[in-house]
Amino acid sequence: MKIALVGIGKIALDQHVPALEASPDWDLAATVSRHGRVEGVEAFTDIATMLSARPDIPVVSLCLPPVPRFDAAQAVLRAGRHLMLEKPPGATLAEVHALAGLAQAQGVTIHATWHSRMAEAVGAARDWLAGKTIHEGRIIWREDVRKWHPGQDWIFKAGGMGVFDPGINALSILTAILPDPVRLLSADLDFPANRQAPIAARLQFSQGIEADFDFRQEGPQTWDMEFRTDAGAMALRMGGNRLEIDGRHVQGADDIMGEYPALYARMADLVRGGQSDADLAPMVLVADAFTLGRRNTVADFHF
Ligand code: NAP
Repeated sequence: MKIALVGIGKIALDQHVPALEASPDWDLAATVSRHGRVEGVEAFTDIATMLSARPDIPVVSLCLPPVPRFDAAQAVLRAGRHLMLEKPPGATLAEVHALAGLAQAQGVTIHATWHSRMAEAVGAARDWLAGKTIHEGRIIWREDVRKWHPGQDWIFKAGGMGVFDPGINALSILTAILPDPVRLLSADLDFPANRQAPIAARLQFSQGIEADFDFRQEGPQTWDMEFRTDAGAMALRMGGNRLEIDGRHVQGADDIMGEYPALYARMADLVRGGQSDADLAPMVLVADAFTLGRRNTVADFHF
């Protein structure tokens, strides 16, 4: 199937383009971006022009940051094309509800992707936890914003989500593997004095689960979750790619390169099957953290 990619920036070039090039399902037929290009692919700078010039492209994948994404997403669906969204799927929950309703009315697929759910050991972790009682859980998600989002000022603007941009990846795994849904109980959010989004957050959930998100970690990066249950201990490390049971490595490696190929394979299945997938559970927890969170002011942040 032909597909167009919109927002040719860091994640489009790091992950989407290689995943599409390696896929038997997809033919990258056009890009839309004001500055970004992919060699050998027809380039547009505006979505409306691409949609009217290329009626032969039935699927559009959006890699824009969340705040400018809604108008492009709405244009895609109104043009009767299938839509794939980078995480988080919108700037607000209402936006994504509106898009899901529009997709249904138009009879097209919407896929709100959560790339971390495609990490190698997530399915095995869910299977292992099934039927067990969780006594406590600890999520540590600490990464270096300068490495993963160099110069991306949008991430610290209102709606950019700050540390919840990576933190929502942890929550996408959490909401996929737990036998029973969690709810947020309280949160502490650290906002740099010169920014509108948090650079660190500590969250407390039901079921004795806590999370520690930090965007200031230099050196080795940490994407771990650990659970103590009535039947032993389980840890998911490397962003869901490596599974340990009672301290023993049982599955997976430290490689994240399978996530985006799996997302595009899933999109192909959804389109072929006439189905949609727009689970908002991770985003609900983030919205609740902003609703309930205590706000602390910390040192200015500069890229
Ligand atoms: P990015 O490079 O800053 O943005 C992607 C592209 O979107 C930009 O190159 C720009 O293209 C366009 N864009 C940026 N701001 C815009 C605006 N205000 N209006 C219209 N277009 C705008 O961001 P990214 O790191 O690729 O992240 C994009 C999405 O992918 C985010 O939702 C993020 O959470 C997700 N993601 C990122 C990573 C990562 O490691 N960076 C990993 C997984 C998921 P033009 O200027 O050419 O139009």
